[in-house]
Amino acid sequence: MGLFRRKKTEYTPVQWKITQKCLDLIFESSKSSFPQEFGALLRVDRVNKTTIIEVVLLPGTISGDSHAIFHLHMLPVDFSVVGTVHSHPSSIARPSEADLDLFSHFGRIHIIVGVTPFGSVSWKAYDYMGHEVSIEII
Ligand SMILES: [Zn+2]
Repeated sequence: MGLFRRKKTEYTPVQWKITQKCLDLIFESSKSSFPQEFGALLRVDRVNKTTIIEVVLLPGTISGDSHAIFHLHMLPVDFSVVGTVHSHPSSIARPSEADLDLFSHFGRIHIIVGVTPFGSVSWKAYDYMGHEVSIEII
């Protein structure tokens, strides 16, 4: 972070929302994948286009202990898919270099879930530049 800071441009930040149900599913999937990573895409409601309502598993996505679990050629052209979610078994919900590279190429909102061996989770969301953003839970 900070090394590749771009010039600031004027834009209105989006207030992202996520349903509690969707978030619970993400946490459960992240915990059950431990100590491997869980990865999926985030899909928004077709009417409320800033409300994340479900996760979409990529065909052929394998959980692994490397960070390159998303392959760009597998990402669908689907405008209801707004970003990605994946877990970090390291428990640290901070994007790696590979994550930042992915964020800059695909999607507008990305969630990282930190999972500990004790089953507790923490999560953070980032925009395409890797800046932390808030998501309202509904
Ligand atoms: Zn990562």
